[in-house]
Amino acid sequence: MTATDAATGLWDISMNPSTSPVPSAERDAILANPGFGGHFTDNMVRAKWTADKGWHDAELVAYGPLLLDPATNFIHYGQAIFEGLKAYRHADGSIKTFRPFKNAQRFAASARRLAMAELPEELFVASIEALVRQDHEWVPRDAEKTLYLRPFMFSTEIGLGVKPADSYEYLLIASPAGAYWPKGLKPVSVWLSDDYVRAAPGGTGEAKCAGNYAASLIAQAEASQHGCDQVVWLDAAERRWIEEMGGMNLYFVYGSGDSARLVTPRLTGSLLPGITRDSLLTVAADLGMRADEGQISVEDWKAGCESGEITEVFACGTAAVITPVGEVKSRTNGSWTVADGGTGPATSRLRQELLDIQTGVIPDRHNWLHAIC
Ligand SMILES: *Cc1c(COP(=O)(O)O)cnc(C)c1O
Repeated sequence: MTATDAATGLWDISMNPSTSPVPSAERDAILANPGFGGHFTDNMVRAKWTADKGWHDAELVAYGPLLLDPATNFIHYGQAIFEGLKAYRHADGSIKTFRPFKNAQRFAASARRLAMAELPEELFVASIEALVRQDHEWVPRDAEKTLYLRPFMFSTEIGLGVKPADSYEYLLIASPAGAYWPKGLKPVSVWLSDDYVRAAPGGTGEAKCAGNYAASLIAQAEASQHGCDQVVWLDAAERRWIEEMGGMNLYFVYGSGDSARLVTPRLTGSLLPGITRDSLLTVAADLGMRADEGQISVEDWKAGCESGEITEVFACGTAAVITPVGEVKSRTNGSWTVADGGTGPATSRLRQELLDIQTGVIPDRHNWLHAIC
C-alpha cells in the first residue's frame, strides 16, 4: 500500500445507503444488457464545500434527484466539471479501478481552471472506494462489461452574479456499461471540423468541463449530416493541426511490423490530456513500438495515407478504450481512407494489451490498478 492509498482513510464518508435497492433479478436483467449511461446503481456519494468549512458532509446516500434553486449559479454560468473512469471485475471476483489518482489530479486541475474548489485527491478516491464497495454487485462479471464511474462537481451558490461561487457540491454516480460501440469494434468514419473548434489556446480545452461538450454538439451533428460517426477537431488558429476525435485522443501509426511507430498529437493546452493516451505511450513502448508526441497536419494525414506511410489511425479514451478510424471526410480537404479502412494489427494489439492489464489477464507491471474489494 502506498502513502496515498493509506491516506484515503482520512476521509470519513457517512454511510446511509438506500433502503430500497433494486431487486437482484431486476439488476441482473440490467447487467445482461446495460448499454451505456442509462442505468444507475442504488447509491451515490456527495460532499459539500463552502468557503468557511471547506469540504464537509461527505456521505453515501441513495441515488436520487437533486433539488435545485432556479438561481443556482452553475445552471446559468456553467461552473461544472466531471471525470470518467471504470471499475473492472477480475476473474478472481476482485474489483479494481485503473489509475484513479490520475483522474483525481485531472479533476483538481479542471477545478482550478474553472475557479472552483479543488477536491482533495484522497477524498476523490475514497468516494470511489465507498460507492464501489457498497454497490459491488453492480460491477458486471462478463468480460467487456464494467461499472462506469462518473465523479462531477458544480457550483451551488444561489444568485445571478457572475463570479467564482462560494459553495460547491461533489457527486459520484455509477452506471453499468456494456461495449461502448453497440455495433462492435468497427472502424469509425470521421468528419474534419473546419467550421467549429473545440478549444483554443488559453481556453478550457485542457479541463474536463461540461461546457466543452455543449460546444462540441453542433459539430458532431454536422459530422452525422455528412454520414460520419465522429468529428475530428483541428487547432483553432490555423485549422490545420489534428487535435482530437470527439471526446477521445488520437494516435497515428507509421509503418508496420517491427518498424511500426506511433505518434499522438502533443498536448498544446487545447487538448484534453487523456489517461488512456498517456497509458498507451507506455504500453506501446512495452510492446517494442516507438511512441512519440508530435504534430500531425491535415495534409500529413492525407498524404501519409495516400503514400501508405500512415498504416493505422485510432482514437482512445476510457469509455471506448480504442476505436479504429477507417475513413476521413472534409469540406475543404477531400476524403480518403486509412489503409484499407479496416482495423490494423497495432490497433488490435494495443487495445488487447491495455484491456488485459485493466482486467487482470496479464500482470499489472506499472502498478496502475487500485484494488477496491
Ligand atoms: C475525457 C476525454 C478524453 C479521454 O480521456 P481519458 O482519460 O483517456 O478517458 C479525451 N478527450 C476529451 C475531450 C475528453 O473529454
